[in-house]
Amino acid sequence: RLVAPQPASPNEETLERALRPRALDDYVGQRRIRDQLEIFVAAARQRGEALDHVLLFGPPGLGKTTLAHIVANEMGVNLKQTSGPVLERAGDLAALLTNLERNDVLFIDEIHRLSPVVEEILYPAMEDFQIDILIGEGPGARSVKLDLQPFTLVGATTRAGMLTNPLRDRFGITARLEFYTTDELTHIVTRSARLLNADITAEGAEEIARRSRGTPRIANRLLRRVRDYAEVKAHGVIDQRAAGAALQMLQVDPHGLDVMDRKLLEAVVHRFDGGPVGVDSLAAAIGEERDTIEDVIEPYLIQHGFLQRTPRGRMATRTTWRHLGLAEPGGRGA
Ligand code: ADP
Repeated sequence: RLVAPQPASPNEETLERALRPRALDDYVGQRRIRDQLEIFVAAARQRGEALDHVLLFGPPGLGKTTLAHIVANEMGVNLKQTSGPVLERAGDLAALLTNLERNDVLFIDEIHRLSPVVEEILYPAMEDFQIDILIGEGPGARSVKLDLQPFTLVGATTRAGMLTNPLRDRFGITARLEFYTTDELTHIVTRSARLLNADITAEGAEEIARRSRGTPRIANRLLRRVRDYAEVKAHGVIDQRAAGAALQMLQVDPHGLDVMDRKLLEAVVHRFDGGPVGVDSLAAAIGEERDTIEDVIEPYLIQHGFLQRTPRGRMATRTTWRHLGLAEPGGRGA
């Protein structure tokens, strides 16, 4: 799966780590949050305080984890990483929190998936750097307050709408990460190629960038596949032709849509007559999880006009019909 939300293998994870920029200056795009962080980090450092809690939201692969690591780096502190579904019991989070050093960063991925009991612990921790823990059981149990070192929570989520209000309200800095432009992705692909010692032309980088669904993770993933192709078929040089041919072989079309994207659009058009169709019916029709459709597949399609979200369900647009090479039925479409 080219648009797989997470690194597909431990091998890919290692490579991702190697390609991850470490300083704010090397982080491409996302101007607004970068500018904000530059100022807030500098101010916090001057005062010797922890940076305010940061909430990052947006589709997978846009650089939330990368940004959390950069914040820790720029603050000169450690980063501890965990994720919502991993923290099953209140004690799991308490153990992490009590081990933090002064001004450390705690990164919680998929923070919308915290269980309510764990989330309860987080409120006083974020607000007053304190936690209440229960010692003992039954009638003899008592609650003890523990002081924590000041810390910065960086939370990441694919959808801000899934967070409870009390949790969301406790973040001082909130940013929505946007899909990257082709120029920004060209920059990222060029940098990654340099780090991987791959021979790439400007046009080759741009071809990969254009077809990466606005997502750095996909751009890096495509780069590696295209490099394999170029090594075998094009004397190792990734030019526009090699990139185009490799991406065609990978069934990534000129707009960057992959097999799953087209499967979804074709289902809307052919099986549901252009829609509107509810996301659950769509999920059943293409054999995907509803969450995957909403978090991974759909955001890019909607932003680029391939799909429309209406109160009654998803609908095909004029662009959908055109993209699938179909005649548009009269009066239908956006
Ligand atoms: P997320 O946490 O949002 O799923 P990651 O932070 O893991 O995404 O980013 C995936 C990969 O994309 C990283 O390994 C990194 O190399 C690359 N990347 C993400 N954002 C940027 C950026 N702004 N500049 C350069 N590379 C980036």
